[in-house]
Amino acid sequence: MKRILAVLALAGVFMAARAQEQSAQMVQFLKEFPQRAGFNSHSYEFVDVVDTPAPKGYHPFYISHYGRHGSRSEWGGDHTYKVVRDILQEAKDNGIGLTSAGDSLLREAGLVYAGYNGMDGRLTLRGVREHEQLANRMYHRFPEVFKNGSEKIRAVSSTVPRCIVSMNGFTAQLRALQPSLELDLDTGEKFFAYIAQGENGTIRERTEKVLEARYAQPLVDSTTVFNNLFRDPEAGKKLVAEKLHSAEVFQLLIYYVAKAAEAYDINENIFRYLPFDAVYRFHEQQFLSAYLNQCNSQLNGDLRLSLEKPLVDTLVVQADRVVSGRSDRAADLTFGHDWPFLGLCSYLGLEGVGDRLSADEAAATWMASWNCPFAANLQMVFYRSHKESAPVLVKFLVNERETAIPVLTAVEGPYYNWEDVKAFLSTRVPHTQIVAHRGYWQGNQENSIESLKKAQEFGCWGSEFDLHLSSDDVVLVNHDGVVKGVNIQNNPSEKVKGQVPTLDEYLKQGAKNKDCVLVLELKPHKKQEREFILIDKCLEALKARKLLDPKRVAFISFSYPICKELAKRCPGFTVQYLEGDKSPAQVYADGINGIDYHYSCFKKHPEWVKEAHDLGMSVNVWTVNNEKDIKQMINLGVDQITTNEPALTREILFGRK
Ligand code: MG
Repeated sequence: MKRILAVLALAGVFMAARAQEQSAQMVQFLKEFPQRAGFNSHSYEFVDVVDTPAPKGYHPFYISHYGRHGSRSEWGGDHTYKVVRDILQEAKDNGIGLTSAGDSLLREAGLVYAGYNGMDGRLTLRGVREHEQLANRMYHRFPEVFKNGSEKIRAVSSTVPRCIVSMNGFTAQLRALQPSLELDLDTGEKFFAYIAQGENGTIRERTEKVLEARYAQPLVDSTTVFNNLFRDPEAGKKLVAEKLHSAEVFQLLIYYVAKAAEAYDINENIFRYLPFDAVYRFHEQQFLSAYLNQCNSQLNGDLRLSLEKPLVDTLVVQADRVVSGRSDRAADLTFGHDWPFLGLCSYLGLEGVGDRLSADEAAATWMASWNCPFAANLQMVFYRSHKESAPVLVKFLVNERETAIPVLTAVEGPYYNWEDVKAFLSTRVPHTQIVAHRGYWQGNQENSIESLKKAQEFGCWGSEFDLHLSSDDVVLVNHDGVVKGVNIQNNPSEKVKGQVPTLDEYLKQGAKNKDCVLVLELKPHKKQEREFILIDKCLEALKARKLLDPKRVAFISFSYPICKELAKRCPGFTVQYLEGDKSPAQVYADGINGIDYHYSCFKKHPEWVKEAHDLGMSVNVWTVNNEKDIKQMINLGVDQITTNEPALTREILFGRK
């Protein structure tokens, strides 16, 4: 018996050692200011900043500010806020008894619950104050911007109330400082397209997989918290077991109460009731999820950055109007959320926030609550010289601290040439998208459901597959017209049953990922009548799976009649002709809005890419597999590359090869 206990104890030590693999940097970061463990629920931490003097003769004239809403309530309603309080109250009332720590947690959890007041996600008074203070500091730090004679400020907010209230706090403070300012405030669904884009199913799934594996082991220590809080720890444990799934959930709920406290100006460190290992782990789980989902991670960065393009483009256009003298605005203020803020900093490649890290590196070094607390913000401050020919400069402030774009050379200190920044941003996300040819089939069968799944998981823009109509009008997915000697088009589907997927089986998998476009290749059939039945059947099947949507599917075919018919019946959908024997103008004249030609066609007629684009057509190219050809097609500016080599193509697209 003793021996068994010794072995178990050793195993416990081993597991504990594994569970406690902690980065010294992160431990210090959390211990220095325990509320940082709340990550993106940590209230704004302002540390005095010093401005590097601007190059001689330069003065600030315009600011573009993207700000996350300030401190707010958490979600989850009573479950998040009340369970801990109720369990402790019950223990107190029914004789289990609370220690003095248990009593103070009961009191503090009660204060947090009162602060919450039944409002999920609401901006708190502290949240408003954070924005007032930000506005105040901006005004006094860059007075020239607000007194440059124009006094026009445009502010736009996400439609979410906590952002609107943040915008209000910020701009009301500016108005109080300078009543003559012309403020133009706005919000609306329309702005959401750039303020807060960025949800992507592939990214989320990939992140979840990594996190599930990383945190598969439950927390080892489930004793300390009961000893801390209950006079009778065993009875306390039993009570928790009756109410919740596990002791870990109990600890997680305490963590939630703790991270909610600051928003209500409750400055007690409620994390102290938990073992440090638990706090460390919950903090890591939270911020790593955000880093992998929202930032420039090795796992998802290539996919993530492109989602941020509309926001970056909008901010660049706004700034350029002022830089070029077409607008005399003093500032553009945008109020949104954490994930676009993180994506924006990632797109700009800003040191610290936008670094490209592995999950392990991020867990050890990414200063989560330093980067993305409530009211996190990015300010781009523009400087002009008295000399007219001198370039416009810009510096970047993350949470008001000067920061760098490491891959760019600054003119001086943190001051960059705006033209250099724009050139860098224009290459940040490649224009060309990847289509997996017959799915991402390496290691699988071409045109198999597995190959589609792999294309989705890889985050291909699209996945292509080939379709034939059997003699009994079933649409089947296969490249060749013949399966083990059976000609699909001349035979009933049951002759190849189980050997190739039906379109419907294929679409079932296709529907699972809204971010991978299904590229249906409708194969030519001998009779036009059969081709048109194939179209009918495809559209029916898409409709049944709710996939008949121009964002979800595109059509390609070597059959010109199929392309023409699809173009007629599906306006707004991408239809690309494959044969390569017609110029874009001819195809366009027949109402077809895209071409998808073999790369040899574009080598012969490189002008066709521009010709097609000028007509508003899309350009795809098949099947490009080697580095030289891929590079050539990217340089021609095609919209999609259909390839058997999605990974190689991505490396080339992002300039890593
Ligand atoms: Mg094909």
